[in-house]
Amino acid sequence: MWGKSGRWAVGLMLTSTLVWAEPGPTSATVDQVLSQQHRCSATLLLRSQALTREQQHQACERLLVQEARFHQLFGTEGSPVADDHNLAMRANVYRDRDSYVAHVTKHFDVPSDNGGMYLEGAPSQPGNQAEFVAYQKQGVIWNLNHEYVHYLDGRFNLYGDFCMNLHDDHSAPEYCPQPTPPLPHLVWWSEGVAEYIAKGQNNPKALALAGEGGYSLSELFNTSYNVNGGSDRVYRWGYLAVRYMMEQQRPRVEQMLTLTRRGDYLGYQQLVAEWGQQMDPDFERWLIELGRITN
Ligand SMILES: [Zn+2]
Repeated sequence: MWGKSGRWAVGLMLTSTLVWAEPGPTSATVDQVLSQQHRCSATLLLRSQALTREQQHQACERLLVQEARFHQLFGTEGSPVADDHNLAMRANVYRDRDSYVAHVTKHFDVPSDNGGMYLEGAPSQPGNQAEFVAYQKQGVIWNLNHEYVHYLDGRFNLYGDFCMNLHDDHSAPEYCPQPTPPLPHLVWWSEGVAEYIAKGQNNPKALALAGEGGYSLSELFNTSYNVNGGSDRVYRWGYLAVRYMMEQQRPRVEQMLTLTRRGDYLGYQQLVAEWGQQMDPDFERWLIELGRITN
């Protein structure tokens, strides 16, 4: 499932110069570099290089609030999808981007040209450890809230591993098999719900786009990472699509989640085909209204 956050990184790369780091002191093991451990709760562990005690507590507090909000929003009653053994997520936090680039590939077998990744692993295997890899930036754990939603969404809303959850990403470390499944995919949902729960009503960049318009809802269901991608469409329009569905079309969300929770992704695609363009006019009305209130 790294692709979800890996794509996030692509967005960041577009606006900053990508610098390949020196090989650095790559001989240090993960336990040597991330030598601090802190357990937030039964479902969340922090392993870090340089977080202060206060930063650890703050991160825990933020995420526990977010976790509660997720369960409340979706009425999960703490009951995960079948065959999911990802009992807890471990956040692995490097001191800064340089340290991340120097170590993360050796420690986790993932690329380092990104802003953090969620690694769902094989949730059907007992003992599987879901990992988030990240670094500190501007005093916080970069992207932590967004990535934590991927963990929760993967455990409570989407049956199966990252490769099952309709998208067109085939890169490391998952190497999801070709061919890409036909559209619609679930990228609008996965990334949109991560943004929606991480940011709530506070997403000025997305709200600015709402005022400008640009996509119909039926187009957004066809968003993916490589085809129909780009950071505005994936993250900001994904946020708008999910927010609209959650706040204006909740029974349809429930219908959809009933299918994705049991892994009926073909059923999900049929459902979206049935929706067709039915909601497009109302989505457009809602966008205009939202843009008017917030801009
Ligand atoms: Zn993401």
